[in-house]
Amino acid sequence: MTGPGAAAARRADELAATLRAVRERVASACVAAGRDPSEVTLVAVAKTFPASDIRHLAGLGVCDVGENRDQEARAKAAELADLELVWHYVGQLQRNKCRSVAGYATVVHSVDRPGLAAELAAAAHHTGRQITVLVQVSLDGDPRRGGAPPADVPRLADTVAASGLQLGGVMAVPPLGVDPSTAYARLARIAAGIRSAHPQARIISAGMSGDLEAAIGQGATLVRVGTALFGLRRPMLR
Ligand SMILES: *Cc1c(COP(=O)(O)O)cnc(C)c1O
Repeated sequence: MTGPGAAAARRADELAATLRAVRERVASACVAAGRDPSEVTLVAVAKTFPASDIRHLAGLGVCDVGENRDQEARAKAAELADLELVWHYVGQLQRNKCRSVAGYATVVHSVDRPGLAAELAAAAHHTGRQITVLVQVSLDGDPRRGGAPPADVPRLADTVAASGLQLGGVMAVPPLGVDPSTAYARLARIAAGIRSAHPQARIISAGMSGDLEAAIGQGATLVRVGTALFGLRRPMLR
């Protein structure tokens, strides 16, 4: 069979297979860690991949979708408004994007400074939407990759909680050149510190295609998976 219908069917089969493989990895990692797989949310990070891919995955039960660019995320959220998806904004955030992001995102993973919390709180208030915020923690001190220094995280968490946003927990991207288990163990200790003041802040967003086992082993409650689901990223054609 050839033609667009056949291509769509092939892509659907491909995504069903990669999803099965990722779910098996998550399940095995949970078994190894003595955890229940229901404790770990899979977020499909769809950046650069078309809305049709997300629609296929939604049909297979994936309802959490991650994006890292506002313009792309907003367009896909509009195109897929007929589905009950939960949009996660995982990219670096600028103050001037907060209003737009607050229009579709339910979880924002990348708040790393007080100004962003204030801007996002104002935007959430304006749009009338409840937004869950994760404080992004820098595990390697490299400011280009985003994240607050660990020492600043408790105060930033307090600021988020006091701003009227829902403090959900913490997020980190894997630091370069550090063993992921060691880095995620550190993140888990930071998360425990936050929970002592904010018991509802239970989300630990950590682990991607390459290291989700290490993250789950250290208590991640949410993994952000792109490549292992969608394949290698190319610039999106519009
Ligand atoms: C792209 C991205 C991911 C997914 O990474 P993969 O290695 O493709 O699984 C996860 N988190 C963030 C913040 C990202 O930008």
